[in-house]
Amino acid sequence: MKKVIIVGAGMAGSEAAWQVANRGIKVDLYEMRPVKSTPAHKTDKFAELVCSNSLRGAGLENAVGLLKEEMRRLKSLIMESADINRVPAGGALAVDREGFSQYITDKVKNHPNITVINEEIAQIPTEEDAITIIASGPLTSEVLAKSIKELTGQEYFYFYDAAAPLIAKESIDMSKAYRASRYGKGTADYINCAMDKEQYEHFWHELVNAEMAPIKEFEKAKFFEGCMPVEEMARRGEDTLLFGPLKPVGLEDPRTGKRPYAVVQLRQDNVADSLYNIVGFQTHLKWPEQKRVFGLIPGLENAEFVRYGVMHRNTFINSPELLRPTLQFYNRDDLLFAGQMTGVEGYVESAASGLVAGINAAYLAKGQEPVIFPKETAHGSMCNYITSAVAKHFQPMNANFGLMPPLEERIRDKKLKKQKIAQRALEFLDKFSADVLKINEEN
Ligand code: FAD
Repeated sequence: MKKVIIVGAGMAGSEAAWQVANRGIKVDLYEMRPVKSTPAHKTDKFAELVCSNSLRGAGLENAVGLLKEEMRRLKSLIMESADINRVPAGGALAVDREGFSQYITDKVKNHPNITVINEEIAQIPTEEDAITIIASGPLTSEVLAKSIKELTGQEYFYFYDAAAPLIAKESIDMSKAYRASRYGKGTADYINCAMDKEQYEHFWHELVNAEMAPIKEFEKAKFFEGCMPVEEMARRGEDTLLFGPLKPVGLEDPRTGKRPYAVVQLRQDNVADSLYNIVGFQTHLKWPEQKRVFGLIPGLENAEFVRYGVMHRNTFINSPELLRPTLQFYNRDDLLFAGQMTGVEGYVESAASGLVAGINAAYLAKGQEPVIFPKETAHGSMCNYITSAVAKHFQPMNANFGLMPPLEERIRDKKLKKQKIAQRALEFLDKFSADVLKINEEN
């Protein structure tokens, strides 16, 4: 039996170590803190929450709530600690951050199958008798980032995430929006939201006055370089957006035959055609402000934001080109990636990907076949998305119902629909655990 090497004891690495070790396999867990820290971590604890203490929505009507319930059923350490260290937070699952990390640190350090080594890893391990999981996170140390970049190739490796908001297609009001491509070229791939002069001026005013999220010191240099947030572009002048992302030329409204004053375009984001991103709207606005201001765009009044726009330091790879749904590297069976590095976004998503990578690393260590989680589950839908999204526009992704296959029956009530998708996910997960995970366990 091989051992498993895990790099990084963050959200993903701690969960992965737990899953591997509980399957009777030895783990070498490398964590560089406290020898060396990142610009955001403040302690030497495992699974440190670097910002908010919320693991977001608790209920099953929420995709991240479903993901958490699946994790519980798969005996997740992160969820065990979250449930024990829960603090009151309305509909969210928030935790006492110190208690949360301490619990995980103690459990991992005291596990007889886990050896913790406080060392910075500079090169991706290539030991023959080991399976490796890279879970070094969005703030991966420079030397390791260099080694990963050499493996992936420069064009498939990113240091910064500037993502536009992502909208559930079914929440776009198509009685106001229309399909068209600029100058009628090719198929009408884009969804267009037109504004008249008055609507544009109101939108512009709210955009330039909206509240921004604080920029971290270590992010400032990049923020003002290259990729410009839409609100920053708007501040350059009232008409600037009309020559940029809101340019109306060639986008006549087919219902009137006229060119609108301004047009916001939305581009398809996933193969299932359920998600659309707002083109050119990378933004640093606070999330409630994004909902308020972008909700002024005709057709997006009731838009469901599957992921808000972000601009932050984030080390991640182009998983659609590089990873298999098992989270193995495309040309190395013995190498897996997990956490924010794979292009999942968020604490829970990172931990969940660590759980999948851990289970699969354990199978590989035993000489067995790794497994692919069903797309109907929140885990499977995420692994499927990050490994099959449009590679050219790949951006990190939160868990969301839009990533899962549609239900066979058509249900109009949104709440009921989500409940049914969640119910189906848990049924698939239970069956998968009983049939696939158990069978492999016994082999
Ligand atoms: P991490 O939890 O960061 O774990 C990676 C670990 O690897 C770290 O412990 C690090 O010390 C270690 N490491 C790095 N390089 C090496 C090396 N060469 N050798 C050995 N060890 C190494 N998500 C949310 O849901 N809510 C938030 O509020 C939130 N805020 C964020 C704020 C910031 C500033 C950042 C950067 C991200 C934030 N995220 C947030 C996104 C993400 O969910 C978290 O970063 C999450 O911790 C990612 O989990 P991970 O396991 O991939 O990485």
